[in-house]
Amino acid sequence: MKKRAILTTVVAFLLLVAVIAAGLNAVFTVTYVNARFLTYTEEGETAARELKEDLNEYLGKSTTFLDLEEVRAAAEAYSRFRVVSVGKEYPASVVVEIVERRAAFALAASDGWDVLDADGVRIGSSDSADTYMELKGDFSFSYENGAITGPYAAQLLELYDVLSELLGEPRANIVSVMFEDNENTATDAFDRFRIATREGVEIVIRDPAVRIADKARAAVELYLSLSENERVCGTINSVIVEETGKASAQWSLYKYVCKNCDYEYKDNIPFRQLPDSWVCPSCGASKSTFEEILIR
Ligand SMILES: [Zn+2]
Repeated sequence: MKKRAILTTVVAFLLLVAVIAAGLNAVFTVTYVNARFLTYTEEGETAARELKEDLNEYLGKSTTFLDLEEVRAAAEAYSRFRVVSVGKEYPASVVVEIVERRAAFALAASDGWDVLDADGVRIGSSDSADTYMELKGDFSFSYENGAITGPYAAQLLELYDVLSELLGEPRANIVSVMFEDNENTATDAFDRFRIATREGVEIVIRDPAVRIADKARAAVELYLSLSENERVCGTINSVIVEETGKASAQWSLYKYVCKNCDYEYKDNIPFRQLPDSWVCPSCGASKSTFEEILIR
């Protein structure tokens, strides 16, 4: 009798578990797929809508036995997006957070702009050139291997990572990154990156081969500490201080004076961002006739 009683209890218990499980399954089914998207481009918008359609196949499925890894895989099938999180939300929602892969670099093309992501993969094009960071100077990239080529290509991607981290969406602040080799720099024998910011202040990173991430970090932190007014002029230089081994940035102000007629440039547009075709408003001499003089 005892054995039978135990058996009955076990069977009753298992039945109860089965009933509860079935009940949970019936009650907690996915009634809402909450797909949260952050997109930057029209193509991204379109792809986001398609992905949301795909995810709707999970509607009506049990939330209890839902395999979140499977949902993640479905979202990751879209290479345009980075999946930030996949989760369940009480009582019956699946939440998927997706961010469109960031446009990192753009190069001028005859019919618009080619936009690359931080890995150098072409992810689209744009005709709103000023919303993307532009590469100038000797940078190039090829579609075949999707890579940025030219001097210091690897350092450029390192630089992009620092800019992303400290500035968020870099294109909000950075207009262009230009490579200048030492033959074009009058003052010293180093290659450099010149980073033009939207407000006008310029960030110069000399000798990109050496610890570019450290130097960029110091420079951007200084840039962020400047007031709105201060950001419109001057140059931020970042170097490794030999004694301490640490990166340090310095903000310098320059004035630009025509060597031909002594006219001093004072307009709001930063002098370096003037086109090469610009001429001295006083005597008509070329832009290269102007001398850069350090004020402080
Ligand atoms: Zn002049």
